[in-house]
Amino acid sequence: MDRNEELAELLFPEITKTIDDLEKEYPARNLPEGAQVTRFAPSPTGFLHTGSLFTAMISYTVAKQSGGVYMFRLEDTDTKRTIEGSDRDLIDQLSKFGIVADEGYFPEGDKGAYGPYRQSKRADIYKTVIKELIRRGRAYPDFCTPEDLDAIRKAQEESKVLPGYYGIYARDRNLTAEERIEKIKAGTPWVIRFYSNGDHERKTKFVDAIRGEIELQDNDTDVVILKSDGLPTYHFAHVVDDHFMHTTVITRGEEWIPSTPIHLDMFRALGWKAPKYAHLPSIMKLDHGNKRKLSKRKDAEAAVSYFLDAGYPPVALKVYLMSIANSNFEEWSIANKSFDLNAFKFSLKKMSVDGALFDLDKLHYFSRELIARMPLDEEFEAVKEYAKNHDEEFFARIEANPEYVKKILNIEKERKNPRKDYVKYGDIYPLAKFFFADEYDKLAKAGFTYKEGLAKETVNACLEEFKAMPFGVEENVWFDFIKTVGGHNGFAVSNKDYKENPAAYVGSLSDIAEVLRLAVVGSTQSPNLHEILEILGKEEVLRRLELAKLA
Ligand code: GLU
Repeated sequence: MDRNEELAELLFPEITKTIDDLEKEYPARNLPEGAQVTRFAPSPTGFLHTGSLFTAMISYTVAKQSGGVYMFRLEDTDTKRTIEGSDRDLIDQLSKFGIVADEGYFPEGDKGAYGPYRQSKRADIYKTVIKELIRRGRAYPDFCTPEDLDAIRKAQEESKVLPGYYGIYARDRNLTAEERIEKIKAGTPWVIRFYSNGDHERKTKFVDAIRGEIELQDNDTDVVILKSDGLPTYHFAHVVDDHFMHTTVITRGEEWIPSTPIHLDMFRALGWKAPKYAHLPSIMKLDHGNKRKLSKRKDAEAAVSYFLDAGYPPVALKVYLMSIANSNFEEWSIANKSFDLNAFKFSLKKMSVDGALFDLDKLHYFSRELIARMPLDEEFEAVKEYAKNHDEEFFARIEANPEYVKKILNIEKERKNPRKDYVKYGDIYPLAKFFFADEYDKLAKAGFTYKEGLAKETVNACLEEFKAMPFGVEENVWFDFIKTVGGHNGFAVSNKDYKENPAAYVGSLSDIAEVLRLAVVGSTQSPNLHEILEILGKEEVLRRLELAKLA
């Protein structure tokens, strides 16, 4: 038997399959021309980062808009960093954004014919490929201890050469198969390294689907591909996975650009065609005048949960992220009066390459618009769901009287230019609290401050007269009544009258309306007062008018 063959058998006796077997097991997909296969491949190390949501959304969009397949692959080979349960959290949160995989890992079981989709369950696949690379002399066991690697690093520092395990510094690269076999038989611990044929004096070129041609130093490092725990490193795992899963476009963060030559080196060594790479820009933040990446340690908005907890509609965050992804989105959205992400034609080529600054105002703009345009029933369900998870008190009120809450949400809503009070669901209850009698009573107890200069008698007389206001009539009929009350009590009944001679009146038309607003709402600001009065109903309005009187 060839000595490399013997080495391969000695290292992986349990592996009986070959790469050819795997090729048969995972045949090419039968998809129409142009259909893209993409994947989102997070590590379950905590929470869904806003940048990861961005990546997942792009990956999903590229697949969906081309009639392809979007996969979810769990990259859990770094067992030290894995956080129990975060796989489920990632999937749950993505589903809130409508990003549900066609194929992939699901906590309740894989879906799809190209799995397993959880890397820790693919050890035999990686080993099958490695076994073959060993036979071909393109991978080898490395017996260096951490101390040996340290010594190499120091020697490189002294000689002022690039750090890394390459060329003459790759200590075990040139051991003979006999020496390797001997060490293994002696029980020396090992990892497996890739045997690179690259040369760092040369360049590797590739065409990035977003950035165009990129030229980088060629890889000549013999990177670790299989760790001592029997699991692969990212570099190797993604090459194998994206090959056998038939990924056509790898959408991943730009931090992976520098290691792309390593990945291309491996694709070459295996004789496989590499998929396209699309390196997405990072989302940035302005910090004391400097642009930096959104950081999970420093920025609350780096976690997607921040937006969900505050009650931003998921679609608003998606629309916002799309406006970062393709700068022509906003123009399109205005021209088409639409925020429909399915109707917008996304293009990787039109993506900006500089990291976009996270702009909360922009998000707020989209969010206001989307909440305002949301059909009432949809908004109601979303608000209820939000309250259920984040605001017990509001939820109890919704459950107690859903129709009442619907009416509140519907104020100035179903019309051409709806009111845009709310940026997020979390804004609703604080602004709507006064609708609930017990909350109003708290305000009334604290007392109201009417406009300066208005005599107590005038205020109380107006409030008393308001009690006769008509309900169930058109707004202008009701308003005529308010004017009349104003007229009886010394207010101007038109803006023109007031302008001509303000000294002749105790106040203007808006001042009389403000007396009523303050008395009923407890604030000088509110949406349409007539709608509010109709929602509160006669009985409650009369009760409030009495309570609002000055003592
Ligand atoms: N697990 C890698 C990460 O979280 C995935 C990168 C990729 O998409 O290939 O960054």
